[in-house]
Amino acid sequence: MNPPASAPTASAPTPLRPTHALRTHDVRVAFHGNEVVRGVDLELRAGEWLGLIGPNGSGKSTYLRSLLGLVPRTGTVELGDGRVPDPTDLSFMPQAPELPPGMTVVEYVLLGRTAHLGWLRAESVQDRQIVTSVLRRLGLASFADRQVRSLSGGEAQRVVIARALTQQAPVLLLDEPTSALDVGHSVEVLEMVDELRHQDGLTVVAAMHDLGMAARYADRLLLLERGAPQALGCPEEVLDPALLTRVYGHPIRVV
Ligand code: ADP
Ligand code: MG
Repeated sequence: MNPPASAPTASAPTPLRPTHALRTHDVRVAFHGNEVVRGVDLELRAGEWLGLIGPNGSGKSTYLRSLLGLVPRTGTVELGDGRVPDPTDLSFMPQAPELPPGMTVVEYVLLGRTAHLGWLRAESVQDRQIVTSVLRRLGLASFADRQVRSLSGGEAQRVVIARALTQQAPVLLLDEPTSALDVGHSVEVLEMVDELRHQDGLTVVAAMHDLGMAARYADRLLLLERGAPQALGCPEEVLDPALLTRVYGHPIRVV
């Protein structure tokens, strides 16, 4: 006699939303013997927004790229649960990404699923559904069939963020996400990221060139000078006029 099919037990635990966060310890990057990231320690809780600031060439992009394994580094990088992140765990929005010619918004945003697609798996209905829902959420549904090259700066930036979000990674790395945008579009993009991290608990690490925007959106700031951390803390602490003047080499006051 066959045993009765087991019914789902009432006590089956409800899966908790993962509280991923990111930790880096003594991250260093050197090019040809010249160290350009010199010992970055960070511990971020899920849903936190860390702003990376510092003058041009201070190592912001290199630090972000090192987290993705795009440049060789030493030190440790781990998620909050202790795992070493794999390519699906960190989504990255590079500064001024190239938009490929002849590609529609849907096709481009679908590239965000690449990290999940092994060599043997073609895109699935589910991948398409994720793209559709992200486009809808970012108010981009009506752009789906537009050529990416035909978009305005602000539209293009939203599409690039959409691509990063379809990866559904717990950590979002942004490299100067508003450097090509005017103030209105900058606020629009940053508000969108802010909403996503509050609603979804996304952890955000963003290199930010505009210190006023960094103060407004980031929970904490990390100030780099020639690759070395100079200050880590809430914006009021880090945006100290004397400190900024020393690091940037000219007077800076953030209002
Ligand atoms: P930031 O993003 O803060 O402007 P970067 O991370 O781009 O700074 O650059 C930090 C330093 O590393 C700079 O001196 C830059 O010239 C150097 N650098 C970045 N990438 C490379 C590379 N691939 N090869 C050699 N030097 C590099
Ligand atoms: Mg940079």
